[in-house]
Amino acid sequence: MISGLISAEECAGCRQCCKFAYTDLMLTPLITPELAEEIRRRLPEQRFISREGTFLLRLEPEADDPGTYYCTLLDRKRGCIMGSRKPFECAIWPFAVTEKEGELAIALSPECPIAAKKPEAQIKRTAEQIADRAFEEAKKYPELIKPCPPGAKVIVEEHAES
Ligand code: SF4
Repeated sequence: MISGLISAEECAGCRQCCKFAYTDLMLTPLITPELAEEIRRRLPEQRFISREGTFLLRLEPEADDPGTYYCTLLDRKRGCIMGSRKPFECAIWPFAVTEKEGELAIALSPECPIAAKKPEAQIKRTAEQIADRAFEEAKKYPELIKPCPPGAKVIVEEHAES
């Protein structure tokens, strides 16, 4: 959750972004090797899916809803157990790094019900504040660059003239 756009209270009441359908499991947050070490310390039973140097969390389906997978780092009462050390994609959600015409860009996911109600100027200002760091991180870990989902709106382009 990106502070500056969404408050901790607003986020705590939703957690839509910590829940995945089976078809979205490859879109779960990228775990860097450093973060995997920290997760292993906090949650020794956590298993990972290896992806050429980075990882995904191995999630299990809900017992009463086999098509739904909650992130294993989600405490259903208190939120993400990683706090300020959560994966980069989670820290910038509902923004995501994507590509537009071959250039890096920041898109706003249409799936966040809270961001959808925020003023456009606030959305743009917040996206501009995270853009440089997000582009830098995406160059280091290209797996962070996700296809622009249907309905997502590109807010910032890396080399766009202002
Ligand atoms: S790492 Fe934390 S913020 Fe990210 S999906 Fe899991 S519980 Fe949610």
